[in-house]
Amino acid sequence: MIQPLKIFSLNSTKPIQQTNNTKLPHVSFATKPDTFEKTVPQKSILAPAYVPFLGYAHDEQVRALGHIVCPCCGIEMMTQEDMHDVSKNLGCTSKEAVKTLDKYEKHMRPIEKECFNLLKGWSEEKPDANFRDLLRENKAPQLAKLQEKQNTILDTVNEISKQLSEKEQQEIQKVTDLTRKLVASDDKEIKFKRKSFIKDVEKLEPQISNKEVYAQIHQEAEKMPTSQNDVSAFVVKYSERSHKEIGERLVKLSVGTIEHIHPRSEGGRNVPGNYMLECGGCNHERQSIPLGDWVDAHPEMKENSQKYIDEVIKRINKGEMKGFSFYPEAVAKTLYHESNGKLNLKVEGIKANA
Ligand SMILES: [Zn+2]
Repeated sequence: MIQPLKIFSLNSTKPIQQTNNTKLPHVSFATKPDTFEKTVPQKSILAPAYVPFLGYAHDEQVRALGHIVCPCCGIEMMTQEDMHDVSKNLGCTSKEAVKTLDKYEKHMRPIEKECFNLLKGWSEEKPDANFRDLLRENKAPQLAKLQEKQNTILDTVNEISKQLSEKEQQEIQKVTDLTRKLVASDDKEIKFKRKSFIKDVEKLEPQISNKEVYAQIHQEAEKMPTSQNDVSAFVVKYSERSHKEIGERLVKLSVGTIEHIHPRSEGGRNVPGNYMLECGGCNHERQSIPLGDWVDAHPEMKENSQKYIDEVIKRINKGEMKGFSFYPEAVAKTLYHESNGKLNLKVEGIKANA
């Protein structure tokens, strides 16, 4: 007989299936998972409708921080409502889109801001053209710049591989030769893809005996420009997309998202002390990189996460975050722990009655 289940307490840590990019709360089972699975058909517990959103209210409190600085890159983030406003009001011409996006320029990440300013300049000449037409018309010089950067990286990879045996060197050369062809090709069907290049390099790892040299090669391969860190790559990639998609992309990564400080994939829990509002760009880029390593690569996070906490405290003191005065301390503790002491934030000045 199936017993009624005392399911899903907040202090459990078993992750449940994640769908798309939605971060579902961590739930755990009061009963042991294996017992649970024997008595209830697996499907029913995984269907979204059956997921109890116990962490949800806290998640919403953090989300409601809205236009706060990203604790990682320091931009002032946007909200979902801002994003809807952009989507609705891009119109069909660059003139309309520029008018809408101008309001959000201060929220844009650096590469997006640079691209927006290029588009703005081109739009002054041709206000009735849409974003895609403008990118296409101005693609050629950006493509040339991009190819030059890509080829320089391939040259460096070949140079590093000279420290390897002749056979290993030849294997690397095969990959870089093929990549060079893809980079040079203007056939839209077989264009260069950064991820597949990195994967091709990774396939060679077992064959390369000198792991230090392999690591250098891999590190170099990862420097291949992306539309998130390079203006030319942005122009080239998005010249194939629609006007609306280009307009949305300029601000999409500035929208605040829930970041699990201790990554969910590593067992991080769905509790407010493990949440920060972080821009989509930083959240996506970090994935499950350990926080200590992430801080080493992004030292600006020390200053920006302090700004974030200071702003939260200000809002708590204004009475805007009822019942949430524990949050700054809790987050600071998680950040300290997860970064091995590299993020040591001051939590000061919370009023006693807040
Ligand atoms: Zn950010």
